[in-house]
Amino acid sequence: MILPGQTVGVLGGGQLGRMFALRARTMGYRVVVLDPDSLSPAAAVADQHIRTGYEDPKGLTELSKLCAAVTTEFENVPARALERLAETRIVRPSGPSVATAQDRIAEKTFFQSHGFATAEFRPVRDPEEVKAAVTQVRLPGLLKTSRLGYDGKGQILVTDAAEALEAFARLGSVPCVLEERVELDRELSVIVARKADGAQAIFPVAENRHREGILDTSVVPARVSQEMANQATALVTEVATALDYVGVLAVELFVTKSGKLLVNEMAPRPHNTGHYTLDACSVDQFELQLRTLCDLPLVQPWLLSPVTMINLLGDLWSGGEPRWEEALRRPGVRLHLYGKAEARPGRKMGHLNCLASTADQALTLALESREALRRN
Ligand code: AMP
Repeated sequence: MILPGQTVGVLGGGQLGRMFALRARTMGYRVVVLDPDSLSPAAAVADQHIRTGYEDPKGLTELSKLCAAVTTEFENVPARALERLAETRIVRPSGPSVATAQDRIAEKTFFQSHGFATAEFRPVRDPEEVKAAVTQVRLPGLLKTSRLGYDGKGQILVTDAAEALEAFARLGSVPCVLEERVELDRELSVIVARKADGAQAIFPVAENRHREGILDTSVVPARVSQEMANQATALVTEVATALDYVGVLAVELFVTKSGKLLVNEMAPRPHNTGHYTLDACSVDQFELQLRTLCDLPLVQPWLLSPVTMINLLGDLWSGGEPRWEEALRRPGVRLHLYGKAEARPGRKMGHLNCLASTADQALTLALESREALRRN
């Protein structure tokens, strides 16, 4: 066990690293962040900032010298950097599981080979494969880049072969997957923490809405049947086991109009859909990241109150600084800001966690509170 007083490292310096660093420091750990950005939100709250690229050998050596264990917060952190650190230090999650999650072809092939149902898809790496895929996958479909896509970036809706070929070229002719567009009833996600000995702790199921490909709200408990919630939880537990995953893993799921549960994708880290745990659970996702990293006892989280997490994107700043007092004067509303200097449209600047007596009331409170922040 790596106990309080020791030093842990984070590869990546965004808001997820910031929330991890805050939690770890609250529990008496020292935290070192490696990130190239001098304005990194995580570095601003860490004990130490190593300002180098993620693959810089000197930076990685320094991180490994300073820390008893290292985790990551950033999906596209090079798996090679994790593998290099793992030669000398405990690294969780492992390079290979991050590599699977950060490449859609590898990820979907993993789901398929373990019998987890996904939307129909085909990997496409060249125009010939695109032409073949459109005959095998029901259209309209989504062409998604295999790597480096996030928040709906790197995805194009296509309705026929000509559009698919054009989209493939527009995405830079890089490896992609062509995936059927599923008729969605709703989207769910489940976050699980798994230790090296296989023990797991699992958070309540979240029900998520996206706007323009970016997460907008997470409502918890998800408004689905107990049976569906149990099925989602069991599925995610099996995914973590099949990956032999150690750390916090988020799995996004689709519920189709016909009531089927499909796996969409996974993230090898705490997740935006798990931010509700900061105010509404007995233990939050960042503490479980720390506990799995340091091999501390794993405890089962429980929900303290129905909650809705609502994202605050840079767009909210278009009329000037939001009216924070409007969030602060509403009972049950908790404000989280990530300390980012520049508010760009679509950029995640913070979120509200809104607690209420029911999930529906929490959603209403969240939508009203965010509207009240707007200056125009
Ligand atoms: P992704 O980056 O793959 O998670 O996609 C972002 C969002 O786009 C998802 O959360 C869904 O709202 C939507 N989406 C992605 N893939 C599909 C699909 N195959 N069918 C319907 N909606 C999708």
